[in-house]
Amino acid sequence: MDELERIDAGVAGCRACPRLVEWRERVGREKRAAFADWEYWARPVPGFGPPDARLLVVGLAPAAHGGNRTGRMFTGDRSGDVLYAALHATGMANQAESVSAGDGLRLLGVRVTAPVHCAPPENKPTPAERDACRPWLVAELRALRPTLRAVVVLGAFGWQALLPALSEAGWPLPRPRPAFAHGSRVRLPTTDGGAGTSGSEDLTLFGCYHVSQRNTFTGRLTPEMLRGVLEEAGREAGLLGGGRETEL
Ligand code: SF4
Repeated sequence: MDELERIDAGVAGCRACPRLVEWRERVGREKRAAFADWEYWARPVPGFGPPDARLLVVGLAPAAHGGNRTGRMFTGDRSGDVLYAALHATGMANQAESVSAGDGLRLLGVRVTAPVHCAPPENKPTPAERDACRPWLVAELRALRPTLRAVVVLGAFGWQALLPALSEAGWPLPRPRPAFAHGSRVRLPTTDGGAGTSGSEDLTLFGCYHVSQRNTFTGRLTPEMLRGVLEEAGREAGLLGGGRETEL
């Protein structure tokens, strides 16, 4: 087991937040009618993607009938349809479809995670739940640090949750702390020489509206806008042409 596999296994067994444990398991028992024949995952949903990812996508938390049902981030709901279609369109996923953990989807140099790993009621974790889950995010960031060069943050909740975790994982934050905005771009230099083996150790953050149905149905976030941010971040991470030297 590598470090990230150990972290993922730890996440999947976590029961630190009583309200979320009760909710995710109840949703799994009661189910939505359309998924009555599914055995819901009903546990914390670990990050998804390779251990040497250069780009990390950070959301909010799994959806009750999406990730909480399928056991994989952004899988089995409309938000995931939008996200993975965009990653596929940019060449950073092998397929656009994301319907179940066994559907063959592979992310190419990209990992997808969330600052809260359990589905929360109304998609709203409490500040205490966000803080309780932060050690998992810090551990994930530390494990990815040798290769990680860019992060796309989907929405203000993810942005605010991520900043202190980045600081703990070795990327000190500028003061004042950068604010979330769609299209924002912030470079975080390392101060200790980093943990990688080649190239710059700096990390670049990109802000993007969340791929929630509310945003995509209303046109606040269009597929073109999402693709634009992912392409810019993919170039910065060295995954797509035109950015840093590709080291894959
Ligand atoms: Fe554990 Fe995070 Fe789920 Fe809380 S939200 S139970 S800390 S995995």
